[in-house]
Amino acid sequence: MLGLYIHIPFCKHICSYCDFPKKVPYNELQITKYIDKLINELAKYSKYYKDCDTIYIGGGTPNLLNNYQLERLLNEIAKYKIKYQEYSIECNPELITEKQIKLFKKYGVNRVSLGMQTISSSGLKLLNRYHNKENVEKSIHLLKKYNLNNINLDLIYGYFNQTIADLKEDLAFIKEMNVKHISAYTLILEEKTKLNLEYKEKDLDEDLIADMTILVNLELKQMGFEHYEISNYAKPNFKSIHNLKYWNKEEYIGLGMGGCSYLNHQRITNPSLINLYLKDAGASIENLSILDEKKEYIILGLRKIVGINKNDYIKRFNSCVTEDFNYQKLINYDLLYEDENILKLTDKGLMLANVVFEEFL
Ligand code: SF4
Repeated sequence: MLGLYIHIPFCKHICSYCDFPKKVPYNELQITKYIDKLINELAKYSKYYKDCDTIYIGGGTPNLLNNYQLERLLNEIAKYKIKYQEYSIECNPELITEKQIKLFKKYGVNRVSLGMQTISSSGLKLLNRYHNKENVEKSIHLLKKYNLNNINLDLIYGYFNQTIADLKEDLAFIKEMNVKHISAYTLILEEKTKLNLEYKEKDLDEDLIADMTILVNLELKQMGFEHYEISNYAKPNFKSIHNLKYWNKEEYIGLGMGGCSYLNHQRITNPSLINLYLKDAGASIENLSILDEKKEYIILGLRKIVGINKNDYIKRFNSCVTEDFNYQKLINYDLLYEDENILKLTDKGLMLANVVFEEFL
């Protein structure tokens, strides 16, 4: 089955670490034009929706839309009567309102992902996030009041000056909030971000970050989360169905500025500048060779803790992964584990996943 992703690029301000396609809107008119364009694009792909079973509205900050804009979009999506299992929306905690949650309920949204990152006020300041612990707490209580219990919290750790004690406070808060899913990422200094201008890679304490990764893993597991993807943890039955499509290399449609679709062995990418997207400047189309497909299948599949199933690989490509790639070196270094059915990262491989992935590029 397919996944449908819809990108809302607008943010009230720019976080210091962010390299997603986003922008601070000039005015309400620009947002209206964007929604108009998105609605046209939604119609363009309508023939695929009978095969869709997940919807994901991401950003940017989807809940920066005002109630009218939000309802217009949700109502438009509803017209296609997609038989979804999961319908997610990303939200910034400081912007959540009861009215928004009522709209989510009215249109069947059943999963909310909150950009918490941390509850430390100095950490949030460094990341240039405008919310606080109370905003996150209040959002979660409000969502639960409306039975929207499938909640993800994004957690960032390993940022400059963060201590183990700070991270423990974030983890204690997660435990108290009793949510269903955690996406936990270490801070990455992406090019052209504010943090990258102020700090250098060498300012990141790799040993401390490795200790933090072990702590996050241990504590989340103790809280009953299953570690199912390098950066993702879920309570039983709450893995992200939509995001698993990416890691399983299933097909998806990505609409909006910078949106990316993967269909019929092609990657179709929309312009990542709003003016070009609004002018319909055309998407770039990349035809993926069989070798590209195999490499992506392995790199994405190894992100899952269960790894890739060798028989699924044979069914998909009509060839055998052990013959297509020589990864014996990675097994010798204890970075990969294989038996007759599976190929997966070891615990050491999980910590050095990028080293493993480079070998398949
Ligand atoms: S809210 Fe999200 S998309 Fe917007 S700037 Fe911050 S991290 Fe980037």
